[in-house]
Amino acid sequence: MNQKEESDIIIKNGVILTINDYDEIIYDGAIVVKKDKIIDLGKYSDIKNRYKPKKEINAKGCVVMPGLVNTHTHLAMSIFKGLADDLPLDKWLSEHIFPAEEKFVDEEFCHWGTKLALAEMILSGTTTFCDMYFFEKETGRVAEEVGVRGVIGEGIVSKFGNENDIFENKLKLTKELLSEFENSSLVSIAIEPHSCYTCGKEILVKSKEFAKKNNLLYIIHLAETKKEFDDIKNEFGFSPVEYLDKIGVLNEKTLAAHCVWLSDKDIKILKERKVNISHCPESNMKLASGISPIAKLLKNSINVSLGTDGSASNNNLNMFSEMNCAAKLAKVSTLDSTVLSAKEIVRMATIEGAKVLGMENEIGSLEIGKKSDIIILDFNQPHLVPVYDYYSHLVYSVCGSDVKSSIINGKIIMEKRKILTFDVKETMRKANAIAKKVKTI
Ligand SMILES: [Zn+2]
Repeated sequence: MNQKEESDIIIKNGVILTINDYDEIIYDGAIVVKKDKIIDLGKYSDIKNRYKPKKEINAKGCVVMPGLVNTHTHLAMSIFKGLADDLPLDKWLSEHIFPAEEKFVDEEFCHWGTKLALAEMILSGTTTFCDMYFFEKETGRVAEEVGVRGVIGEGIVSKFGNENDIFENKLKLTKELLSEFENSSLVSIAIEPHSCYTCGKEILVKSKEFAKKNNLLYIIHLAETKKEFDDIKNEFGFSPVEYLDKIGVLNEKTLAAHCVWLSDKDIKILKERKVNISHCPESNMKLASGISPIAKLLKNSINVSLGTDGSASNNNLNMFSEMNCAAKLAKVSTLDSTVLSAKEIVRMATIEGAKVLGMENEIGSLEIGKKSDIIILDFNQPHLVPVYDYYSHLVYSVCGSDVKSSIINGKIIMEKRKILTFDVKETMRKANAIAKKVKTI
């Protein structure tokens, strides 16, 4: 008999949704993990005699799928959730969020806010996030400590001071991030000017030059509200998309969040420049920003992923809830129930998310050689029985709390709903203590 190969983890007896190019589903399947990678997957009966794993996870009655990829968020803002609701974006930002940030956001705030957010994300199936905020060194450090994969970048907002000084400072911080996380297996760096209404032209252009030189993603909020669309049109004579195109910052390494207010010409530009999009339907609905024309964008072969946005404008970081809303919003807004199938939505939350972050060769699907970012969902529950179509349940019936276990980069981060890498109770205590001070404003 052949000698069995040593491995770290085997997940056995589950239904594996691979989300590969053929949307292959493996029943009674098994996945073998060694170090940070998936080294084998297939029928458990074919695989079991080939490996000697250190740890076995029995996924009977469970669905095993790639971890979810949340492509737009502001993690530390989780401490602001519920602080100011039922307001339009401009008022919400200028009268509530910006003043609270000015007063309270520091390293400690970002440490505990990020930890709180990551606890919520792990518990609802996210294994990769893309963040824009401040004190991102802390965000990156927390992501490494907790064991979650992330793209981080200093949010650049330049409207409230000397543009040059602000940019130089942000550039310095970005360079520090690049050096600190150069060899990180979990954290990568992007350059992130907040938007064309909070950053001057010079900053938008210089940020792109830096991004090109260092092969970084350029992440920006774009065409989020009617006010932004009208203001930019009045100031420059162009739509926000046309304006960013004129100044040369749109290409395949640009990730634009929201993209709600788009003309047909804008969509043509986004397609030609191969801009990637993060669709954040819950935030857009809650702030009454509008509805992104996702069906049209997909028809134009534009890469569309899903993001929750920060939990101050959502007010949660639950990607299953985002998937549910994305599906229903697309249907009701077009009066066409055939747009955005459940399968398409699941792909948006996994492999398409990986694609817009430039990580499709590493994550987003369960395939041999890819990183082992895997979640296990308990389907043995009344609201998930019976199953005619797994994708349908993932979009229309699953709750984030159905995620039982989570493995990221080969490490078990959550097992049977218990997060193993940090103290969640302490995190909630610290977040509550900070929130007590915030409440006084
Ligand atoms: Zn945002």
